[in-house]
Amino acid sequence: MTRDISRLIRPSIANLVPYSSARDEYTGSAAVFLDANENPFNGPYNRYPDPHQAALKKKIGLLKNVDPRQLFIGNGSDEAIDILFRIFCTPGVDNVVSIDPTYGMYQVSADINNVALRKVSLTPSFGLDLTALISACDAQTKMLFICSPNNPTSNSFAAEEILALTGQLDVMVVVDEAYIDFSQRESLKNHVAEVPSLVVLQTFSKAWALAGIRLGIAIADPEVTRYMSMVKYPYNINMLTQQFALEALENKAQVQEWIALILEERGHLERKLNQFSFVEQVYPSDANFLLVKVGKPKKVYNFLVEKKIIVRDRSNIRLCDGSLRITVGTESENRVLTDALTHYQHDFIDSCGL
Ligand SMILES: *Cc1c(COP(=O)(O)O)cnc(C)c1O
Repeated sequence: MTRDISRLIRPSIANLVPYSSARDEYTGSAAVFLDANENPFNGPYNRYPDPHQAALKKKIGLLKNVDPRQLFIGNGSDEAIDILFRIFCTPGVDNVVSIDPTYGMYQVSADINNVALRKVSLTPSFGLDLTALISACDAQTKMLFICSPNNPTSNSFAAEEILALTGQLDVMVVVDEAYIDFSQRESLKNHVAEVPSLVVLQTFSKAWALAGIRLGIAIADPEVTRYMSMVKYPYNINMLTQQFALEALENKAQVQEWIALILEERGHLERKLNQFSFVEQVYPSDANFLLVKVGKPKKVYNFLVEKKIIVRDRSNIRLCDGSLRITVGTESENRVLTDALTHYQHDFIDSCGL
């Protein structure tokens, strides 16, 4: 296990002198701000937002039961993914390992940063191939991305397996928990204190229904979050998002209700989908979407588009042949979907035998 993560930091980042914002250079309370070349009119929007997001970190720390120093707040967790590449991977030299299939942003960030991404297939039942993951890593491997619950396969992986990887590999293990609030499993966030090479990503885009304000977090060792904060744009989280989030994070009870409703709807939708003869398999889901294997996925997809219903065609992705990814919507949205699929079955399946 990597106890000392400094070996993994890019040399240029380890020596970085970060940007110092005007408000960092004094202590005490101030009343007249003539330090940042802001316009004195149009308050409060004339002022730069807090680059340290102190109030929001305190609140998210309480919500997630982690030390605010273990938090990085990003413009979506996509920002955290990109910053991790920039901290740990020297372009053209280092590499990263991920499972396959998985979330597409790891590949995009790897390509943008000119870092090779080595994809290790899941087993046919969507499990982790621990031996293959370990042998894919070499001395230039700096990170391993594990998305759990995984997008698009919708299953999650046992904590013991992921922690075994942190024990055996000298790389950062990044666990993307975007869907953890819908999962039966517990977050790995509480292991960050003992495992400095573990980074847990979470987002407010899914269960918290805040995709529009762009807010994601990394929970990691304070040394890692300190580097992440040095590398981010100083004002990555704007004032509107910080203020809105402080209020929205009071809605924990509402979010619990939404999660319960979505999980109930997921069960309904799964049962309904299984009744269609063209549905070959609905994979067990630990997230707010279902991966559904159908005969003729393109035909089903296009039929739904015609009916103004958009799902995600994943049929060309490894291990997902024939599969569509369907987000669980409201009861009425899900009914619109299943009604349309009833028409599809009537038009193209049942009538074929006539
Ligand atoms: C939706 C999703 C995210 C969320 O990204 P944000 O930038 O926080 O909106 C992250 N990871 C995975 C696997 C996702 O599916």
